[in-house]
Amino acid sequence: MELYRLLQQQGFGSRKECRKLIEYGLVDLNGDTEYDWRRDVAPADIRLLQVDGEPWTLLPEPFYLLLHKPAGYETSHKPIHNPSVYRLLPQQMVNLGVSAVGRLDVDTTGLLLFSTDGQFVHALTSPKKDVPKLYRVTTKHPVSAELLQRLREGVLLHDEQETLAADSAEQVGENLLDMAITQGKYHQVKRMVAAAGNRVEQLHRLALGSLALGDLPEGEWRLLSATELAALG
Ligand code: URA
Repeated sequence: MELYRLLQQQGFGSRKECRKLIEYGLVDLNGDTEYDWRRDVAPADIRLLQVDGEPWTLLPEPFYLLLHKPAGYETSHKPIHNPSVYRLLPQQMVNLGVSAVGRLDVDTTGLLLFSTDGQFVHALTSPKKDVPKLYRVTTKHPVSAELLQRLREGVLLHDEQETLAADSAEQVGENLLDMAITQGKYHQVKRMVAAAGNRVEQLHRLALGSLALGDLPEGEWRLLSATELAALG
């Protein structure tokens, strides 16, 4: 494939912009600056691609990644009061149409999944797909046995017809509990904890289905491995 096409497929801009990047000497291929935008390249032959001095790892199509979301970012392409989570990803990924799978509130931290695979994003956010989401919740008041019991048995939230129950709710510290839910209603964890008589001070998503955040530092992202993707179903 011609080099400029490859850059275009990697989200570096329009055909014209990608040709210019090459003509201006901003693209290094396997250690040498390449000025010929027609240069025929096979992705398998690329050991090192640098664009404007930055190394670039070729993205598969579609691609899947997880981000350790920090507090203070809105899960939206059009944020209102805070920067968008998409600012934490390379612009090339945004150019390729990457979307978040569901949302985390602006003050919630933790695992946020993204993909360019529209069907995957849709399927994982569909109410029919019961993907458990595990949260670590810091509460205002100490965690009590009643709180855990209420969360497990189910609470009725304002504007909901049916009670919502946590799949699991375990105390992990005086003011700390781990709680899993399958649905993804608006502010669900905060509303459930409030309805059960306590208040969420901090919320952090530890896992989504079989995917765990692990030791990925806050603000960083990584692509999913094929095994992780297969396990998500
Ligand atoms: N539940 C909430 O209340 N907020 C989140 O960000 C996620 C789940």
